[in-house]
Amino acid sequence: MKYAVIDRGDQLSKSLAERFHQLAAERGLTRHDDTPDIIVSIGGDGTLLQAFHKYVDRVTDVSFVGIHTGHLGFYADWKADELDTLVTLMAEETPHLVRYPLAEIAVETDEQNFYYLALNEFTLKGVDATLVVQLSVNDESFEMFRGDGIVISTPSGSTAYNKSVGGAIVHPSIESLQIAEIASINNRVYRTLGSSFLLPQHHHCDIVSKKEQRLLLTIDHQSLQRTDIRSIRCSVSTRKVSFARYRPFPFWNRVRDAFVDM
Ligand code: NAP
Repeated sequence: MKYAVIDRGDQLSKSLAERFHQLAAERGLTRHDDTPDIIVSIGGDGTLLQAFHKYVDRVTDVSFVGIHTGHLGFYADWKADELDTLVTLMAEETPHLVRYPLAEIAVETDEQNFYYLALNEFTLKGVDATLVVQLSVNDESFEMFRGDGIVISTPSGSTAYNKSVGGAIVHPSIESLQIAEIASINNRVYRTLGSSFLLPQHHHCDIVSKKEQRLLLTIDHQSLQRTDIRSIRCSVSTRKVSFARYRPFPFWNRVRDAFVDM
């Protein structure tokens, strides 16, 4: 089994990565940064997002394991002092693969189309002024949105930015996309739904730019600005991300531990 390690870059994560390589060599695991089977992320959920995007072109061929060096994460369940156990399990056992849905967008610009996958979410915001976009669902006009922005999240990303803007938490077995508003303008003139909504796997949402505007598009932790975006088609990807589980890591326990139990 071939593995790669991505660490957050801080001293603790770097030293854990070194230790991981030592233990892995002792247990007969092969380090292969280009074509790994399993990618071990050491840091936090943000580190796993980086690992995901580094290997996004091979997402259907790899699985991920997260070790956290701070608080318990949504993607990173192993603790630093469990490194030895994890390496032994990786060497000796076949993991259970848990597959989570991903979000996909097709961005149409004046010149060409771009495609992106997100593990957590995409966001769209106006850079210089209020975002003005038309939303259509399954090619039917839905609403004219004016406000700060829109969050398009995956189920596993529903506990991240989506939750901060009042979106619901969605179990990752529900193949869906959640569309949530960031500070929409609602008054006598402008009207939006005013709540988030879920799209199932076979539906799509188009977001069409309705004026010349500089847009900020974020893809998980990455961002880009463009003035030539005409429209963005959002859907649940046919591809999924896999997590290698060597022990159970129930989603609702993670939600409770992160947000309820103090
Ligand atoms: P960051 O701004 O440094 O950290 C964002 C925080 O979100 C970190 O505490 C991170 O956990 C946590 N997080 C990441 N994925 C999560 C998930 N699926 N469920 C619950 N919490 C999660 O940025 P970053 O580390 O590069 O992460 C990028 C993410 O930040 C974006 O995908 C977006 O979801 C989130 N974000 C949230 C807001 C907001 O809530 N207002 C604003 C901007 C971005 P760790 O500490 O374990 O890494």
